[in-house]
Amino acid sequence: MYVTSEKLLLDAAGGGYAVGAFNAENAEMVWAIITAAEEARSPVIIQTTPGTLKYLPEGYFAGMVKNAAQAASVPVVLHLDHGSSFELAKSCVEHGYSSVMIDGSKLPFEENAALTKRVCDFARRCGIPVEGEIGVIGGKEDTTQADSGVYTDPAQAAAFASATGVSSLAISIGTAHGFYKTAPALDLDLIPETKKRTDVPLVLHGASGLPDETVTRAARLGMSKVNFATELRDVYTKALKEYIASDSGAFDPKKYGSHARTAVKELVRHKMSVCMSEGRA
Ligand SMILES: [Zn+2]
Repeated sequence: MYVTSEKLLLDAAGGGYAVGAFNAENAEMVWAIITAAEEARSPVIIQTTPGTLKYLPEGYFAGMVKNAAQAASVPVVLHLDHGSSFELAKSCVEHGYSSVMIDGSKLPFEENAALTKRVCDFARRCGIPVEGEIGVIGGKEDTTQADSGVYTDPAQAAAFASATGVSSLAISIGTAHGFYKTAPALDLDLIPETKKRTDVPLVLHGASGLPDETVTRAARLGMSKVNFATELRDVYTKALKEYIASDSGAFDPKKYGSHARTAVKELVRHKMSVCMSEGRA
């Protein structure tokens, strides 16, 4: 079934587990993620960055995911990851996305809050929940380079949540996007400290390359959504290269596409067990 992220994340927050949010770049990845969710009986979030939407527009993803979700036996969300403007968030809602993020985290607090509230006010009228972000998460989406993150102030996070009306909130505990060059210095205590001050479900970005135990611990402590992007791109591309290297005459996208799809599905299944979302659908 096709659902919004709101109840999914509140259920996860109440149940002490996280819902994995997986970045898809094409049809094979959408299919792999939904198949993994059905096998694991897990709720799932499929998400696309603004960079991905320059490659394949939101209408394509909305059409694919909505159709697949309606036939699926588990709850599926389509989410805009790191929405870069009010206009893009609005376009995704209008095309049928069931969840959006607006990322104003690089702006000063007041400007971030004003932009986020504007998106929340619009999306609310359409029944669509919004994820905001406070405290810049290091690195850059759509690249593999991670650098060190910064840390969200729990009191500021709570003030931001009540000023904007967000349904979920990305906070920084020292993670970064991309693969890590050195182990990041995480402050997991920020999770319960922030939870004490706000009821809004919390979101962990930059989980690619973190040890499984760390992600599980973060979920137990109260991260209700965990994003995985870089690792999916990496296994997809490795599987594709592996297939083509083993068969120099390969020319049929169905052959190497299937091989890459299976690799992504297996990785997503594993991440669902790390998030403890298996059997929750
Ligand atoms: Zn992110």
